[in-house]
Order: sequence, then C-alpha cells, then structure tokens
Amino acid sequence: MASQDQFQRFIFEHSQIRGAWVKLGDSYTEIAKQAPYPASVRELLGESLAASVLMSGTLKFEGILSLQAQGDGSLRTLMAECTHQRTIRGLARFNDTAIQKSGLKELLGQGNMVITITPEQGQRYQGVVPREADSLAGCLQDYFTRSEQIDTGLMLFADENTSAGLLLQRMPGAIDPDNDQWQRVNHLAATLTAEEMLGLDSETLLNRLFHEEEVRLFETEPVRFYCSCSRERTLAALESIGQKECYSILDERESIDMDCQFCHAQYRFVRNDIDHLFSGHSLH
Ligand SMILES: [Zn+2]
Repeated sequence: MASQDQFQRFIFEHSQIRGAWVKLGDSYTEIAKQAPYPASVRELLGESLAASVLMSGTLKFEGILSLQAQGDGSLRTLMAECTHQRTIRGLARFNDTAIQKSGLKELLGQGNMVITITPEQGQRYQGVVPREADSLAGCLQDYFTRSEQIDTGLMLFADENTSAGLLLQRMPGAIDPDNDQWQRVNHLAATLTAEEMLGLDSETLLNRLFHEEEVRLFETEPVRFYCSCSRERTLAALESIGQKECYSILDERESIDMDCQFCHAQYRFVRNDIDHLFSGHSLH
C-alpha cells in the first residue's frame, strides 16, 4: 500500500510562484504516541512536523532542518526535524498534562522559534524569530519574510491523527513579480478549511483551490518517521558530558542509562564501556 504520508512540490506555470504540500498520518501518530501529549500539544507537534517537511523540501539542501520553539508557557519546548530524505522526528515538553489552552501563543507564551539547518557539508545555519504571531504558521511566515526576504504563505492544520500543510512562496530573486497573482493565490489558500486540508489528497485539493491557475505538480515523495539515534551517537554525547561526570554517575549507579528523547530507545553503558570510551584520554 502506498504511504499516506506524502510531500509534493508544485509550481504555477508562467509565474514565479512555487508551492509545496504535505500530509502526514502514520509518521505523525508514531511520533505523537511517544508521550502522553495533551490534545492541543499533540496537534501543535503535528503542525510543526508538517512545517519542517515543507521547509526542508523547499530549501534545497542535503542535511537536517530543525524547528525548535521555546517559551515560558505550559509548553516549554517544541521540536521537529526533517531530513532531505524526508524522514521526520519530533517531540514536545510540557509541564501540565491537563492543558486546556491551544495554539502556539497560548501554549508557548513569550518565546522564540529557532530554525536550524545542518547541512551534511558546510556551515550550520541558524535563524531566530520571536514568537510574535499567534500561530506556528504565522511565526514561520515572519521568519521567511524577515530573515529570508521571501514572501511566503503558510497554512498548517492538525487533528489527532493527521497533520497537513500548504506553503506558497515567491521564488527567491523573482524579477517583475506578479502581485495580482500572488495576492490571488494567497487569498484562495486562506479559504482552506482544516477538513479540506486533512481530508483531501493533493491533486483534488489543488485542483479545487486553484482551478483557474495552471498548476504543475511534481512527483509525490513519501515521508516517514525515522530516528537517527544510535549507540555510537549516545556515546559521543557522553564523551561531551566528560569523563569526570560519567564516572561520578557510575560511583552511584551500576550503569549510565540513556533514553532517546525522540524514540525512547534505551542505551545502557557500564563501567567497562566508559573505561573504553575514555581510554585514550588522560585522567586529571
Ligand atoms: Zn531515537
């Protein structure tokens, strides 16, 4: 069976506007079931996963794009990552399981949104936007407009088991941009309902929405949940914590137990592993 979790790019013919669409089912629920998320936090996580796919799919690079929001509200951290192979992972940290609030503004409070691009080769890039807009989509639009100077329209929706997003963008460096068309397609996109976004496939949705425009769809690309954690990477994290700290844990416990925050894989290291890890280091 073909995956329900798909990403697709499209362009408006004879114009300098491009777009991207994403819908996530299994990959989102797989990530969301990792913790007992309150409904509103779960949905925001779904939106951020959809956004990470849209952003990594339109900014062409090989590596990882990560979105991270931090604030002083009930939701302390929201994180979503997407690789160029369209694998995603994400998590949220919150301090109240009975959260009644919903939406980014209410949940996060005062805070920032950090966009990090870690290419396989070359320099890491980080951009920060304050959480001024009420919604995640609004914040990310601010990011594109202010930091990247790229006019962007973004729609994000999520319910318990599906999340979806639509991104419209003027191609960077567009000369003689057609303002009327840009306004028109954004106006149309703004009429989208959650029901349409979460229920329809891309072709039906885009045909219905932009039936007066000439839209060319590219191939759909499957999206899946994948966590890149490993024993080696966990060891590298221990190495950065430092020799002294590792041994001080082992003075109190038999092993150092590390739990991956994204997939809950367990990694256990005994004294012998730590001896081996730091065998090349000299003790101070
Ligand atoms: Zn993991």
